[in-house]
Amino acid sequence: MSALSRTATAQPVAIPLGEVMPWATFAGLMLMLMVYFVGTEQGAMAMFSGSTVHEFVHDGRHLLGFPCH
Ligand SMILES: [Zn+2]
Repeated sequence: MSALSRTATAQPVAIPLGEVMPWATFAGLMLMLMVYFVGTEQGAMAMFSGSTVHEFVHDGRHLLGFPCH
């Protein structure tokens, strides 16, 4: 039996929840903010006046199926 016949097995690495939770929370907040700007940043719900944000995410709005025009 040669040394090459032995195969190393990968061992799973435990990721502590305390290290993942801040990044998961940050990613969730960024996702919700992105969905807000793509989905509802227009008309009475607009945080910014004008239509710059609406036009910037306009294709994403149609791609995701949000009502637009
Ligand atoms: Zn549209």
